[in-house]
Amino acid sequence: MNEDTLRTRLKGQLVTAFEPGFGAAADDLIWNGRKPGVRARYIVRAANVADVQTAVRFAAANGFSVSPRSSGHHFTGISTQATVVIDLEALNHLRIDAEAMVCEAGPTVTNARLNAELTARGLAFPVGHCASVAIGGYLLGGGVGWNSGEWGIACFLIESVDIVTPDGVLRRVSATEEPDLFWAARGAGPGFFGIVTSYRLRVKKAKPAIMSAVRVYGADHHGAVSGWVRQAIRRAPANLELSLKVSTEVSPVGPMVAIAVIATAFGSSEAESRAILSEFGRGAPAGAFIEVPEMPTSIAGLYDMTGAGTPKGHRFAVDSLWSDAPVADVLAGIVATMQKAPSAKSFAVLSPSSPAAAVPGEAAFSRIGSIFGAIYTVWQDEEQDARQIGWLRSGMDSLQPLKAGVYVGYGDIDVPARRKEIHSRPAELRLAEMRRRYDPRGLFGQALGHTTSAQAA
Ligand SMILES: Cc1cc2nc3c(=O)[nH]c(=O)nc-3n(C[C@H](O)[C@H](O)[C@H](O)COP(=O)(O)OP(=O)(O)OC[C@H]3O[C@@H](n4cnc5c(N)ncnc54)[C@H](O)[C@@H]3O)c2cc1C
Repeated sequence: MNEDTLRTRLKGQLVTAFEPGFGAAADDLIWNGRKPGVRARYIVRAANVADVQTAVRFAAANGFSVSPRSSGHHFTGISTQATVVIDLEALNHLRIDAEAMVCEAGPTVTNARLNAELTARGLAFPVGHCASVAIGGYLLGGGVGWNSGEWGIACFLIESVDIVTPDGVLRRVSATEEPDLFWAARGAGPGFFGIVTSYRLRVKKAKPAIMSAVRVYGADHHGAVSGWVRQAIRRAPANLELSLKVSTEVSPVGPMVAIAVIATAFGSSEAESRAILSEFGRGAPAGAFIEVPEMPTSIAGLYDMTGAGTPKGHRFAVDSLWSDAPVADVLAGIVATMQKAPSAKSFAVLSPSSPAAAVPGEAAFSRIGSIFGAIYTVWQDEEQDARQIGWLRSGMDSLQPLKAGVYVGYGDIDVPARRKEIHSRPAELRLAEMRRRYDPRGLFGQALGHTTSAQAA
């Protein structure tokens, strides 16, 4: 199939690198203000699943690498680093069956939309922490969402997935239909050898009385804060979500690194949320700059808070860690790194989980720890790129002894060594074997260095 045939077969649009405005069109697909250095040659704006199949067959016929793009939010801009980029924007269907407590959702449905439509029906899902991220890449990497402690890592609520495989065939996969592809689609992350065109998800009952409480301390209190948090999280139920945000921006007393301890209870009643937060606050050290007592909120309200820290158009570089090390060690390491941050907009988040938190099932999502952490490097000036990214990488290197893995959604996967920390060794080998079987010509994941045995030979 050549370019002309592709164009006539598509219901959607084809944009090629030779057309004026192509560069801007390619860059617009990436949410990060820092755009990737590598650009596609073809952008296929798929109008439907048949277009996705046609575009995959076009790539296969010409030996071109291919990548789907759902919302372009991966911080590395990986979704446009292939010769053929398939923009799934139009695949945004959302059908909710409130009685059966399931929904069918296209890969470009955003967290905010899924949450709003479920909330209107008294339902919920562990949607991600930022409104504009689509579920396509979010669920493929695992999905660490609101109330994941109780509701679980989001991909374990997937009932089935519709996938266009490298041969252009559309398959529905589930625990009983092509279970190996179903296993891979829950945690493989970027470079997955197929394109998800729809998810069928189990949903939960909404939590009508979500409440948050916040205490902000100076970074010099990190020892006392981690002592308290270590004890308090041990007693906490799974529906308490804890986030320690470490940054200069959370300091109410001028430019110094501070720690905001944000506790959110996903209660079914106000009394339950209040009790959870009050018990969590027991033993909190004195000396907080600010103490905000329990206040009612909602996932939509929480999105206003997280959105403010990640403004569109800024430049971002991010990396993450799972850790089973003591909270005190991880917090001390993060504070030391943040104290050297070259940008005051940068921040780190640390989320220790309750021992009662849901345990993930068996899938490609195969590494987790009792603490999740991420460092967000945020800046505006392009000339600062090397300095900012250098700081992030040396900070993450200093945390290496504390790491149990990397979460792919926030992983600095431009660094080859990081990619090795995403999956358990057996999962990595199983994914490599499946890649050879399903994608023998290596159409997917070339930007991540995935090669097939045929290519290597
Ligand atoms: C501001 C912000 C907040 C975030 N918050 C969270 C959070 O709370 N929890 C969390 O878990 N993650 C979070 N993330 C990370 C996010 O979930 C991942 O980066 C995810 O990959 C973004 O999804 P996307 O659809 O935009 O992926 P894209 O950037 O569009 O694609 C990235 C790669 O994923 C694969 N991919 C994407 N869509 C498909 C598809 N339909 N079929 C097959 N492969 C596909 C492709 O390999 C593609 O190259 C956040 C990211 C940002 C920018």
